[in-house]
This record gives sequence, structure tokens and C-alpha cells, in this order.
Amino acid sequence: MMDTEPNKKTGAGNFSLSVDVEDYFQVWAFSNVIKRDSWDGFPLRVGDATRAVLDMVDARGAKATFFTLGWVGERDPALVREIVARGHELASHGFDHTKVNQQTREAFAKDAAHAKKLLEDIAGVEVRGYRAPGFSIDRTTPWAHEVLAETGYAYSSSTHPIAHDHYGDASAEQNPYRPVEGAALIEAPVATVNMLGRRISCAGGGWFRASPITASKMLLRRAAATLKGPVIFYFHPWELDAEQPRINSASAKSKFRHYLNLKTMPSKLDNMLRSFSWRRIDDQLGLAPVGGEA
Ligand SMILES: [Zn+2]
Repeated sequence: MMDTEPNKKTGAGNFSLSVDVEDYFQVWAFSNVIKRDSWDGFPLRVGDATRAVLDMVDARGAKATFFTLGWVGERDPALVREIVARGHELASHGFDHTKVNQQTREAFAKDAAHAKKLLEDIAGVEVRGYRAPGFSIDRTTPWAHEVLAETGYAYSSSTHPIAHDHYGDASAEQNPYRPVEGAALIEAPVATVNMLGRRISCAGGGWFRASPITASKMLLRRAAATLKGPVIFYFHPWELDAEQPRINSASAKSKFRHYLNLKTMPSKLDNMLRSFSWRRIDDQLGLAPVGGEA
């Protein structure tokens, strides 16, 4: 694999790259103006956008975990197989992006099991990781981790332990932990740091697009020095797709967050890929390797 600046990489620390594979019209911020039953009317962009991500990641010799919607896998199974064939971890983002805290325990159990089996049947590898849409495992879903353990997932990366208007819990655990007594399931929260008496996210998403790259890298290095587990960073393929159709009917706040700095995202992401050594979450958590052609 090409790596033009190996000596500049920060190898210390456990950096994990994660990609939430969903299309631009499936994000929760647009869910009040784009109804679930209209999704099939949108031409898919997630396949091309994710393949562009794979090219960037592979060019820097990084490995990543791709939390993929079952809905996307059903429509682009070749993409699911390509993720695995290129040596990355295939994981589950649920079937159709319904938040965990908007489902009953029974509905969530169905959703989590359905997405896992669907992806496994397409790819021929075990799917061990789960990420809740919108980091929606929180204090209102005390049964969620039990369901994931019962469904056969080995880990979840579904909590974002900060205060935020749509998700998060500033008192939640920042380091990996076992949320279900007697079960091996690990919850591995995305990256946060404590600074000046506050807890700050450095995990990616809108914060990453809004912040100068130097600040993001500084916070990530600090997270690596203070967290006791993988430093998990995340982004979405649509964040690199500046040509995506605009959803004009969305609220001003949603549009601001969704479209902010899409054009500079590819160069910022490449800077991150050059600057840190990235591994799959299952590797970082010490889970034994499973199938695939890595
Ligand atoms: Zn998502």
C-alpha cells in the first residue's frame, strides 16, 4: 500500500476509523421532510461515495470498520462484498436507520437481528459490530445492550458520551466497558476528551467539518493519551459527496449542519489518514479475526 509520509504518522494510541454507510437522504436530520417510504424514489449515491472512501482509505494503507445499513446492503450487495474483499470490517448500522430509542425492545431485536443476518448472507462473514443510528442507545433504552448480546453481536459503538441537543449523555462512560453483566458484549464509545472541565467530542461528524484540522488532530492525540481503549473516529460517505442534491425543504439548522464544508472534507480526511495509523474496531478490541480476504 502507498504511504508517502510514514514517519509523520502517530502510531501510538489505538486509532479506529469508522464509516457509517448510509445515503444522504436517510439522515435523521432530514427525516421529517423525507419520508421512509419515499427512499426508493431517490437514485442511490452511497455506492459511489463509499467506493471513493475505500479508494482514499486503501491509498493510505488504513483499515476501517464500515457500519452499513441493511437497506443499503439489499440494494448494493456488491458494495458489501467489496468492503470485505478490500480487508475492512463489515458491521451493522441497523436495517433502515430507525433510532433505537424510537423502537420497542421487540422491534429493536428484530431490526438488529435482521440487519446482521442480511449483511452476513451477502458477505459470507460474521458481522460482530453494531452502531446505533444517531448514537441512540441512551438512558431511555436500558434493554438495548441486552438485545445486542442476545442477538450475537460482540461489540457496539453506539454511544457518544457528551451533551448534545439530539443525542448523548455527558455522564456516560468514555472508555470501553461491558454493559451487560455476564455477557461478553463490549460497548466502545466514540472519542471524547476532557478539557477545561468540559467533555468535548473529537469523534468526527459535524464537529470535524466545522473545526480546523489542526484542532481536530490535537484533540485526537489528546484522546489517545487519555482514553483507555480505541480512539474511535467516524464519518459518512455523503460528507465527501459535495455534488449531492440539496434538500431545500429541510430546516435551516439541519441544512447548515449537513452541508457545512463538504468541499474541504476529502482533503481533511486525507490529512487524517496520513497523520494517524488506523485500524478496524474489531482489531482494536482484540477480537479474533473472522473470514474475509484481508
Ligand atoms: Zn447513521
